[in-house]
Amino acid sequence: MPGFQLHTIDLQFFGAPQLIASYALVGLASVALIETGPGSTIPNLLRGLRDLGVQPADVRDVLVTHIHLDHAGAAGWWARQGATVHVHTVGAPHLLDPSKLIASAARIYGDALDTLWGEILSVPPERLHAIGDGDLIETGGATIRAIDSPGHARHHHCFQIGDIAFTGDAAGVRLAQHDWLAVHTPPPEFDLEAWHATVNRLSALDLKAIYPTHFGRVANPADHFRRFAPLLDECAGFVRQRLEEGLNREQIIERYGAWYFERAAAANLDAAARDDYAKINDVAQCVDGISRYWAKRKKRNP
Ligand SMILES: [Zn+2]
Repeated sequence: MPGFQLHTIDLQFFGAPQLIASYALVGLASVALIETGPGSTIPNLLRGLRDLGVQPADVRDVLVTHIHLDHAGAAGWWARQGATVHVHTVGAPHLLDPSKLIASAARIYGDALDTLWGEILSVPPERLHAIGDGDLIETGGATIRAIDSPGHARHHHCFQIGDIAFTGDAAGVRLAQHDWLAVHTPPPEFDLEAWHATVNRLSALDLKAIYPTHFGRVANPADHFRRFAPLLDECAGFVRQRLEEGLNREQIIERYGAWYFERAAAANLDAAARDDYAKINDVAQCVDGISRYWAKRKKRNP
């Protein structure tokens, strides 16, 4: 029997259910969180913890799969409550000094930054623990293994506990209430080859369940990965073809969006469901990430 209870806390991003999760591991001696969500949903996370009888001071460790704001935006806040924040070595400098993170988010979201993402606080150095592949963290009644998992971002970890893993964005976006698979390929670090290697590595673990941050438990990881790997190629290939046809950014975003929604409609997703996906998987960002990847590739092998 595991020494912890696992709880999925719905952060109610945009006031909508089941878009962003934080996973709480409640052990006898300590509580750990996997993913903090953004600063804007801290009250919802605290409410979820309170329902479990957990006070903020009980949370000893916070693990984030990567530093994007929907996963780690509230990391600094938790550090200031006394938690240790565990993050990939490559992402760690940006939690110590989030100014670059804030500047790039401000470029994308403008005036909506605060409402969407809330306050982004730095993590004090004494509260930050930079981790790498294979590192073990004992907390929340569990032994958690970090698995380096680049593709969505260079600085991405999955967290394995026995035969389950918390996959962040590495296994794509699959909202439990709609059960449709999508992939978020943002700039600047989307990397198709690295992502395939990550999927192969995760598949080889023979997991019984995975927990993407968006959203909830997937009970058949083997089937999930079988569908996910070709989707990566399809999305990257779609953009590559339009680039080769000489379309500009706006045209590609329009076509990609139309194609994306056709796929969703073919899977019987209604408008409300498509809207849920749009809230956490921005089409323009997906196109920008893939375009940047192909441009880098071309520079490497012209
Ligand atoms: Zn992300």
